[in-house]
Amino acid sequence: MPELPEVETVRRGLQMVLPGQKILQVELFRPDLRVPFSPGMVDRLTGRRFTRVLRRSKYLIMETDGPDLILAHLGMTGTFLVRPLSNVAPHKHTHLRLVLDAGNELIYHDPRRFGLILLVPQQEVAQHPLLAALGPEPLLDDFTPEYLASQLMRRKGPIKPALMDASLVVGVGNIYASEVLFRACIHPATPACHCVDHAATLVQHTRDVLREAIASGGSTLRDYATSEGSPGYFQHHFAVYGKAGKPCEMCQTRIEKMVQCGRASFFCPSCQSIKVKNSRTKKR
Ligand SMILES: [Zn+2]
Repeated sequence: MPELPEVETVRRGLQMVLPGQKILQVELFRPDLRVPFSPGMVDRLTGRRFTRVLRRSKYLIMETDGPDLILAHLGMTGTFLVRPLSNVAPHKHTHLRLVLDAGNELIYHDPRRFGLILLVPQQEVAQHPLLAALGPEPLLDDFTPEYLASQLMRRKGPIKPALMDASLVVGVGNIYASEVLFRACIHPATPACHCVDHAATLVQHTRDVLREAIASGGSTLRDYATSEGSPGYFQHHFAVYGKAGKPCEMCQTRIEKMVQCGRASFFCPSCQSIKVKNSRTKKR
């Protein structure tokens, strides 16, 4: 599933090629993805030019010179691709095609169709129900240690689901939450309110982990903008995620796996044990 770094890489790829391109033709090959395409999408987009591609959490926001913008989410398996215009029949998992004036086409491909593509009036995007309740962006200035501490203080549940809560901070998915907590030496089951003193460390590791993942997408970006192939989702180096039973790279202890809120958490019981002991001590 694409997480924030993959979506940011897609955004950068689209931002390199879309601005200035005019939409000559809009083709929808089915009525819906996760939800129906917006009514009137063909008429509302035809003849418009892309101006800018932004991202909010894992949503792509493709602005145009018209009244509407495209709000898109890749779901589990969605990909956008810009490639030279072809006359071949659309692949069965291609659900949208925009013919662009520079001899290109923008296609949306999504085998599992959990993605979403909506048209939203440009002035209303900030208040859109999908975006209005989102917390701060982890890579922007409003995700501060003070802010995080104030949020953790009020939460008695475990830290890992708290970090993954989009109303606290967006874009820290399951993989990255495990990696952040490993770097911060915090056990994923530690109550969030016991991690207040570590807010600065958590902010720093969150930023580092996401920035490194985005940086590792650099080679993908090149392919994305130019080739006909799938942009794919890059493999990062993970210290704990998916490594259950493997030795910890810091201490050789076997990485363990536990399930929290239905999601797998990976951690080193040795490197990430200190905070749990502290928490228990504090509780008594
Ligand atoms: Zn370890």
